[in-house]
Amino acid sequence: MEKHIPISAKTRIFCIIGHPITHSFSPFIHNYWFKELGLDFKYLAFDVHPDQLKQSIKGIKALNIKGFNVTIPHKEAILNLIDKVDVLAQEIGAINAIKLEEGDLIGRNTDALGGKKALLDAGCKIKDKKVLILGAGGAARAISFALIEDIDSLVIANRTSERVRILAGDLIKKKNNEIKIINFNTQSLKKELGDIDILINTTPIGMYPNINKSPISKEILHSDLFIFDLVYNPIETQLLKEANLIGCKSQGGLDMLINQGALAFEWWTNKKPSIDKIKDKIIENMMRN
Ligand code: NAP
Repeated sequence: MEKHIPISAKTRIFCIIGHPITHSFSPFIHNYWFKELGLDFKYLAFDVHPDQLKQSIKGIKALNIKGFNVTIPHKEAILNLIDKVDVLAQEIGAINAIKLEEGDLIGRNTDALGGKKALLDAGCKIKDKKVLILGAGGAARAISFALIEDIDSLVIANRTSERVRILAGDLIKKKNNEIKIINFNTQSLKKELGDIDILINTTPIGMYPNINKSPISKEILHSDLFIFDLVYNPIETQLLKEANLIGCKSQGGLDMLINQGALAFEWWTNKKPSIDKIKDKIIENMMRN
């Protein structure tokens, strides 16, 4: 039975900052784990406008807050406001988890390894596979850098060309794989998909409230694809529904969300949180709201 620990002068604070922030699942996830493990910690969400980001980081350090997350739109801007950034996060150009250690703020990108773990846990083999990523934003950067050393080749489809060109150029510096950039339209996607093993959606298409939309026409999908949709609200997106009808193996975004949180949690507390229970709790909570 979990013990209720009342807030006291000993309670330690963790938090997330973003703008907007009320949609975030992180307070629910971390507070559940703190309670489950009997830790006298609380996790709060702060809406921080970009103009106040620098000030808020100074404040977090001054208040000796030991760990925090950042989300949209601060994942990139915060790179220049902390003391150290690990190699993978530097390559990605974004961080989502920070720890205060011996007076230094250290940044990591736990989205990257959380996403890779979600794929592996779903039984997806990534070694020497051909991957197609839809989108070239922050999540695409995280997952592509996490996978690039294992996979055989990568195709990236994006709506606008500048972002995708920068991503492809950065990835080639890490590993000289075959990386192809294509337009985000059915004709270009159809030409590539025949050879592809893993299709990853990193665009917000299909995300609540636009839950009937899919980023790719179901007519061009094939049953040998493993489909990973990073969107986690709804749990089963239109893309995943269509993937399942065709007979594709698939993974949704919720496992990645939980994994990125668990990696940060373990880093901050040196304790392992429960992964399976929190998934059910999040789904229950989503049904209620
Ligand atoms: P982002 O940096 O804003 O990037 C969004 C990407 O999607 C861009 O490449 C953008 O193309 C493309 N895009 C957006 N709307 C589009 C549309 N209508 N048609 C075609 N392309 C479109 O966002 P992000 O941080 O990468 O997040 C993207 C999604 O991943 C969100 O749904 C987010 O919730 C999800 N995510 C999930 C997790 C998880 O743990 N499961 C973690 C991170 C993100 P342009 O470059 O042309 O604008």
